[in-house]
Amino acid sequence: MALVFPAPAVPTVPVDGGGEFPVRRIFCVGRNYTEHAREMGHDPDREDPFFFTKPADTIVLDGATIPHPSMTSNLHHEIELVVAIGKGGRDIPEAEALDHVFGYAVGVDLTRRDLQNEAKKLGRPWDMGKGFDDSAPIGPITRADPAKPLDQGDIWIKVNGETRQSSDVSKLIWSTPEVIAYLSRYVALAPGDLIYTGTPEGVGKVGPGDEMHGHIAGLHDLRIRIAA
Ligand code: MN
Repeated sequence: MALVFPAPAVPTVPVDGGGEFPVRRIFCVGRNYTEHAREMGHDPDREDPFFFTKPADTIVLDGATIPHPSMTSNLHHEIELVVAIGKGGRDIPEAEALDHVFGYAVGVDLTRRDLQNEAKKLGRPWDMGKGFDDSAPIGPITRADPAKPLDQGDIWIKVNGETRQSSDVSKLIWSTPEVIAYLSRYVALAPGDLIYTGTPEGVGKVGPGDEMHGHIAGLHDLRIRIAA
């Protein structure tokens, strides 16, 4: 059957050592570091993880300059470890979860905080606060080393050279295997899925002309600029 217009290209992320990772879906975990849960006004006592999504074509690659998003006067950075799924499955046991990981990357869950806060207050969906154009910057993907799970190491983001968020991946409330196990109960995970695993404390505003520089130990850094 003839398509009535050309199908959109599949968004891809470069993989360290060669090749491109085709992005299928983007899942994000809310409140996965204790101090960030507190700064957002919540009791972090291991409430079950919850998830929201962004469209696959919201990814932005390392080195890009993006326009300042519309409809917000409070755009926030959230530095996050991104897990790239290479093998699908449903009801994945925690003990097998790392077998489903293709690799890891540095990501930023850009958030229109004013729209998200309004949505929370009114009991509305978060989509327009979270899943807008260019809202999912991601660095090159580093292939997972089965012998070395990425469960610790520095995670930070600087804005114009100033450190805004600085923590350690070991402080994730829900670890990567736990997140995969939980999420795969709600949806069948598939190769190409990305999971943004949540942000530590220190989220804050970025604006026109700002440069974000994200880092996680062992991965490629991510640099994204917002157009002046
Ligand atoms: Mn986030």
